[in-house]
Amino acid sequence: MRVLARRGLSRQARRRPLRRSGRGDCDARALRLACPHDPGDPIAFPRRRRPESRRARARARGRRVSAAPALRFAGVTKEYALGEGTIRALDALTLEIPRGTFAAIVGRSGSGKSTLLNLAAGIDVPTRGEVWVDGRELSQLSDDELTRQRRDRVGMVYQFFNLLGTLSVRENVALPLLLGGTPRREAIARADRLVDEVGLSHRRDSRPHMLSGGEMQRTAIARALVHEPALVLADEPTGNLDTRASEAIVKLLGDLGAAHGVTVVLVTHSREAAAAASRVIELRDGRVLADTAAGT
Ligand code: ADP
Ligand code: MG
Repeated sequence: MRVLARRGLSRQARRRPLRRSGRGDCDARALRLACPHDPGDPIAFPRRRRPESRRARARARGRRVSAAPALRFAGVTKEYALGEGTIRALDALTLEIPRGTFAAIVGRSGSGKSTLLNLAAGIDVPTRGEVWVDGRELSQLSDDELTRQRRDRVGMVYQFFNLLGTLSVRENVALPLLLGGTPRREAIARADRLVDEVGLSHRRDSRPHMLSGGEMQRTAIARALVHEPALVLADEPTGNLDTRASEAIVKLLGDLGAAHGVTVVLVTHSREAAAAASRVIELRDGRVLADTAAGT
């Protein structure tokens, strides 16, 4: 895989040993496009606040409890600097999503949906408030713990798939396992099971450019689930698909989430897509405007 992933680099670059990036996930150069947790934006990797003492960090780790909700936002405000002023993308947002939920986040463009997902994924930090994932408050984690949290506990699905073009479907799906140090044979075997589950057995050895949009998104969904995360975060995964493919993708996310006991948070513009979720949270101006359980 490494050899494949490093195709496209100069011969000199290929001879150099793979270096870990500053964030510790993966080789920044060879795997930049491949890392499913890295949307490719350097500002998405700011330095994290560290608690003052070792004891405070240990206390935070000890707070992990199995009954904790999959996701909890407690009074979360996120502001971005804009010229002289600031933009408030999230405004004292409080929200709790229990484990096993299939939740849809809806709202107009600019309402804060992607900001919410980026904070949940730990690739951005709140200005104020606490983000808890799987019983852990993210600002209390060390850089290494946060990297592991992102890599092991969270799966991401993006609108534009973020597949690595030089890798086959099964290799793209195996990538989170390979990055986490799983031996190649085991990683490929586990990836193949997920490839089967998303209905792409016949496409296992195809490269992404040979796939339809729906098939690319199936690959990305398999990749998001292969390492058995607690939480799958999907940001407009149907934004680039036609109606039929969109419906199938949303159904697949719901079905696989239920089958694997994973909490799925789906950001979508589409009311029809949201209707498949068990809970629909509508954002406006960075606040929760409505929060509805299915059938109510
Ligand atoms: P949505 O995903 O619902 O369209 P976003 O979370 O992307 O909304 O954005 C919410 C608000 O925050 C918007 O006004 C957007 O312009 C602003 N915003 C998002 N990211 C940044 C950024 N990196 N820098 C400045 N403003 C941002
Ligand atoms: Mg968005």
